[in-house]
Amino acid sequence: MSPRSSTEVRPLGVALLGSTGSIGRQTVEVLEAHADRFQVRALATGRNAAELEAQARRLRPAAVSLADEGTQLDLPAGTERWRGGEALERMAVLDDVDIVVVGTGGVVSLRPVLAALRAGKVVASANKETLVSGGHLVMAEARARAGERAAVDPHDPLATPLAWLRPIDSEHSAIWQCLVGERRSAVARLILTASGGPFRDESAEEIAAATPERALRHPNWSMGAKITIDSATLANKGLEVIEARWLYDVAYDAIDVVVHPQSVVHSAVLFIDGSLKAQLGTPDMRLPIQYALTYPERLPSSAASLDLVAAARLDFRAPDEARFPALRIAREAGRTGSRASAALIAADEVAVARFLDGTLDFNGIPRLLEAAVRRFGEGDDQAPDIAALVALDGEVRAAFAAGPVEAA
Ligand code: MG
Repeated sequence: MSPRSSTEVRPLGVALLGSTGSIGRQTVEVLEAHADRFQVRALATGRNAAELEAQARRLRPAAVSLADEGTQLDLPAGTERWRGGEALERMAVLDDVDIVVVGTGGVVSLRPVLAALRAGKVVASANKETLVSGGHLVMAEARARAGERAAVDPHDPLATPLAWLRPIDSEHSAIWQCLVGERRSAVARLILTASGGPFRDESAEEIAAATPERALRHPNWSMGAKITIDSATLANKGLEVIEARWLYDVAYDAIDVVVHPQSVVHSAVLFIDGSLKAQLGTPDMRLPIQYALTYPERLPSSAASLDLVAAARLDFRAPDEARFPALRIAREAGRTGSRASAALIAADEVAVARFLDGTLDFNGIPRLLEAAVRRFGEGDDQAPDIAALVALDGEVRAAFAAGPVEAA
């Protein structure tokens, strides 16, 4: 089973993992706006039973999964509840599923992502562990699927790894859109833009005293709490640098980060002739979600179109790694390898949770990241298999769950 070309009329089957989170709910909006194009076959989420029931009534999937298995679900006729740790993997490889959308967090998403790619399904992912921890595993599968297509028809839109592992993140979607129709040998640099978060203009002293309330106030994007804190520390941008290295197969030295407070330029590519292509848009995740679903086509969207005159001005500046050390720590982890970057992303989960519950100060976040990478990220096996990645994730979380965090 493999995705059909977009000129055929049968709707594409979708499995949506993480359907009630921020990405999941916006994906549902896009799918409902294009109900003639997509048929939702499976929905999975963690705890939000009421929202999952409402989605099931509207979308009529064949299967749903709620990780909180003690909670009862009231489901419409024709929708089954799947239980057990394998439910997500089973959904990802369903015969009539063509695209698996991954809106869940955590290293647990790696198994369904790999299973989907191996079964010839397209994956559209907003899950950072997919690439930060599992980039070496996932991109090998995406390249294999693309190679199979290229052998038949090199002009097939699916003859590129990015068509199999489609980024939903706005920055990576932007770079992907800039690269369509270009040769990789023509790419000089990737430029990831960062809003800079709520503390971009604050002094080191003000940042050190940052509270969760202030950090949660993101200037441009409406996102979940975890990613909002990550954008305040720039850890989010550091993780995106690692993802970019895997998605676009470029060296770390060729990936720049530029602070762009307006979040209008979502990212850019500099080519060897000095030409720079950027993708611009309003800060609305429904745009990159929809592009990942409809590639290589574009369809009308309910997101507001960008008005350049209204935007009026766009500012850019270099990031300050002294005030925001997470960016440097992430680059170093990425250069060390997948074990180090897996330790980094697990540590970031713990660090953000502890900052939010008041057991770690704001600068404790980068301190914990660096300590975790030093303690768990070094070693010869920098391309671990899934079992090793899951084990490492658990070790890092356990080691830093409580207690003081010393500077590395
Ligand atoms: Mg992003």
